[in-house]
Amino acid sequence: MTPDQLRTLVRTIPDHPKPGILFRDVTTLLLHAEGFAAAIDHLADSVSGRPDLVAGMEARGFVVATALALKLGAGLLLIRKDGKLPGATIAEDYALEYGTDRLTMHVDACAPGATVLLADDLLATGGTALAAARLVRRAGAQVTGARFLIDLPDLGGATRLEAADIHTHSLLSYA
Ligand code: 5GP
Repeated sequence: MTPDQLRTLVRTIPDHPKPGILFRDVTTLLLHAEGFAAAIDHLADSVSGRPDLVAGMEARGFVVATALALKLGAGLLLIRKDGKLPGATIAEDYALEYGTDRLTMHVDACAPGATVLLADDLLATGGTALAAARLVRRAGAQVTGARFLIDLPDLGGATRLEAADIHTHSLLSYA
């Protein structure tokens, strides 16, 4: 399936989670067996070489990262919201529209020098992905890039990630 065909599988829900927001709902793409596989194939094809790990950000990022890790032959690194991981963690806060949120990673999840590809369903401001990148870099590992099903370029995430030396690629763009 082509990206244009895959675009038709993403549902747009107006006023979620609050008035004025157009929420891009990827659950409808995931429900489509051929579409889900094609989306992951497209993202995998954009990756040169094999990272040691694909890192997924909770929660929808887990879906993309898991499928991509299996496809690329990489391990899976789970980056979770605060209080979810059982072992010793490191944490990074990031700004939301109102307030802050926190991502955590097991302190021993990636070895110094490991190569790590970030993955999530959607890139908006880039705050989530940049917090994940800080965690990976604090562990001494190398962020080799970031992959998303959807980019919202007007919110500037790709520009911010590139400024942090993180090359991004997304399957679909919604301007
Ligand atoms: P950012 O940190 O780049 O501003 O926001 C991206 C994060 O918010 C991702 O983890 C993504 O799951 C979530 N997100 C924000 N807006 C949307 C949306 O319209 N659709 C989906 N599926 N996720 C969104």
